[in-house]
Amino acid sequence: MSSPIIIAVDGHSSTGKSTFAKAIAKELGYIYIDTGAMYRAVTLLAFRKGLVSKNNTISDVHALAGILSGNAGPVEISFRTSGAGGASETWLDGENIEKEIRTIEISRVVSHVAAIPEVRRYVDRRLREIGSARGVVMDGRDIGTAVFPDAELKIFMTARPEVRAERRYEEMRMRGYDVSYEDILSNLKERDYLDAHRETAPLKQAPDAELLDNSDMTVDDQVEWFHELLKRRHLCGF
Ligand code: C5P
Repeated sequence: MSSPIIIAVDGHSSTGKSTFAKAIAKELGYIYIDTGAMYRAVTLLAFRKGLVSKNNTISDVHALAGILSGNAGPVEISFRTSGAGGASETWLDGENIEKEIRTIEISRVVSHVAAIPEVRRYVDRRLREIGSARGVVMDGRDIGTAVFPDAELKIFMTARPEVRAERRYEEMRMRGYDVSYEDILSNLKERDYLDAHRETAPLKQAPDAELLDNSDMTVDDQVEWFHELLKRRHLCGF
């Protein structure tokens, strides 16, 4: 590809967006950005500040907004590459929080946090800074609709809920988390609902996004599909 572009990969929870986005970023020599990790990091911050209620919502939205605006000192969420495989990990104020933000406790609260307009403004600003260099693949829910509506290539991913829950269950078990399939299925259905029904930047397919339903596809099939897409859109040549 001659000049670097922005590729937006949006879609439902647990559709394998990060696996797919990482694979295509690697092929293109692009940077991969996991935007959900930003919302997860803000959620962890809210837990640590004692702002999460028993019903998994935020007890004091104003206080959280104030913290993000830096009234108690700057909040720094960043991504760093580490390890032999060069995996990108999430850091909060100089601490590696990658493992902590993947727990089911964070997953139960994160979509409530992501519905808060001040949180979205904070995250959007960081994402636009990161994306300004272009040559990025960003995965999320609103990248092609709100963060980078002019992204040159937009992909919207989905899959049947049971297939998604099964994949996420296997992945979490392999990583050593003690979770049940039922909890995961109900969590992802709830997150789909909250993400699609919030007022600010709800999850929806951009009119110019290409739909990828990977219910019955392997990762290789998806990369193959991507190659065909590049040809069809006359974006090959990298
Ligand atoms: O991608 P992941 O499942 O880790 O994202 C966690 C949550 O963050 C999502 O369920 C969604 O509520 C929120 N999110 C969002 N907009 C994005 C990325 C994630 O609202 N661009």
